[in-house]
Amino acid sequence: MAANDRRLSLALEGLRGAVRQNVSLQSMTHLRIGGSADWLVEPYTEVDAQTVVRVCRDLDLPLRVLGGGSNLLVADEGVRGVVMRLDALNRVVRDDVRLTAGAGVTVPSLLRGARDCGLAGLEILTGVPAMVGGAVAMNAGTLDGETFDHLVSLTVLQPDGELTVLGREDFAPRYRDGGLAGRICLHATFELTPDDPQRIFERFEASLKRRNATQPVTERSVGCVFRNPEGDSAGRLIERSGCKLMRRGGVVVSGKHANYFVNEGEGTAADFLGLVDDVRERVRQEFGVELELEVQLWGFDGGD
Ligand SMILES: Cc1cc2nc3c(=O)[nH]c(=O)nc-3n(C[C@H](O)[C@H](O)[C@H](O)COP(=O)(O)OP(=O)(O)OC[C@H]3O[C@@H](n4cnc5c(N)ncnc54)[C@H](O)[C@@H]3O)c2cc1C
Repeated sequence: MAANDRRLSLALEGLRGAVRQNVSLQSMTHLRIGGSADWLVEPYTEVDAQTVVRVCRDLDLPLRVLGGGSNLLVADEGVRGVVMRLDALNRVVRDDVRLTAGAGVTVPSLLRGARDCGLAGLEILTGVPAMVGGAVAMNAGTLDGETFDHLVSLTVLQPDGELTVLGREDFAPRYRDGGLAGRICLHATFELTPDDPQRIFERFEASLKRRNATQPVTERSVGCVFRNPEGDSAGRLIERSGCKLMRRGGVVVSGKHANYFVNEGEGTAADFLGLVDDVRERVRQEFGVELELEVQLWGFDGGD
């Protein structure tokens, strides 16, 4: 064991949670692509998460937080340092029209809970296979709205491990970026609107039906690979550039939605990035537009 690994192992000895070395991240991402994390740490409580942040800072180890893995491309060589999962922060607490959800609550279960309480608003996130922490970090959204539209406060760990509660006004979220700036989301409080559960359910259903008809929702993807350029749709530009069904190895541009790349089974991160380059080049030639990645890259030069 290298010296830093030994120090990490010792420093996390009393941690409540799981600490494992050399863990494959493939099955923890929707794409099912990527290598291993040097360390995977799954703290049970927010205080344990705080310990992980402080230990990594003291040992100068890179720390990444994994949510639902639905917007991640992990390098075939994996990632160095520590990956932390917050799945144990999985409680939802109701206070009148407010719901406070842990970072490890899945968005679909939060939506079901909100519907059962007769609280509307979060239906905008129907079909987003995220965890609450990831939805906040990415300011996940649809044409109907974004995560921050209903957010009133966040409990976060600052980069130095300090635990702070911040109001919505402390953030400047943008399109697909919650503006957390290195802070880790532990809990999020949403303010919703009372409504009839049946009406909320009908909106879910309508939205799911739309998604199923237009997106390859059951395939291995990251959702939209590229951000939409101002006033346009990346999917439209890719489709008009003739990129549907273009492929690199085991990764193919979906025939159903051109901004989705699908891993057909044997795809690698190198295939995925090769296809990104090919599609970007075609769109650049065709429209003079430089597409920007929405998918988060882990373990690549210049990535997260
Ligand atoms: C089929 C499909 C459909 C999709 N549809 C949509 C859609 O309609 N709209 C949309 O916006 N996105 C969509 N996505 C993309 C994805 O679901 C969102 O980007 C989502 O917000 C990612 O959340 P996650 O929990 O999976 O995060 P991950 O993919 O695990 O991580 C994404 C980023 O968030 C960070 N992060 C995760 N948890 C935390 C935390 N607790 N604190 C701080 N940072 C954290 C990670 O470090 C990483 O940088 C779709 C993806 C798929 C596969």
